[in-house]
Amino acid sequence: MASIFSQIVDGEIPARVVYEDETTMAFLDANPLAPGHTLVIPKAEHERLNDLPDDLASDLYDTLHRLIPVIEGAVDAPASNVAFNNGEAAGQEVPHVHGHIIPRFEDDGGNPIHAIAGSPPNLDDEELDDIAERISTDTRI
Ligand code: 5GP
Repeated sequence: MASIFSQIVDGEIPARVVYEDETTMAFLDANPLAPGHTLVIPKAEHERLNDLPDDLASDLYDTLHRLIPVIEGAVDAPASNVAFNNGEAAGQEVPHVHGHIIPRFEDDGGNPIHAIAGSPPNLDDEELDDIAERISTDTRI
């Protein structure tokens, strides 16, 4: 069964589409956390960011980059949070990659992105060095 967002792409269920090109689409979130809360998706159905082929990942970023100032301007927001819930354990409910653009306002009662994770871990220098080493080995820095 196609994801709910693929059904929006196919016009099978309605949405307030604010942008569309050959490979990406953006529409207002049905349960907005702020005025202008928008979801940006690749039209092709992939669950996670790293399931995207490179060219589609670039297209998705280009659309985010293009829309952020337009959305902020439309609702007169001085800032926004731009984020992906990437996987179920991170809170992803719809298994079709989508970036949230959430306009933010002075004193809106919200939090920075640092508030999304659980209790911060207490990592000593050795553990931090080990994590950095594992990542940098895999990224061949
Ligand atoms: P997630 O937790 O997967 O990152 O967020 C999914 C988002 O999709 C939620 O913010 C939810 O409000 C939104 N959403 C779910 N179903 C629909 C829908 O049918 N239409 C629209 N426009 N948004 C939806």
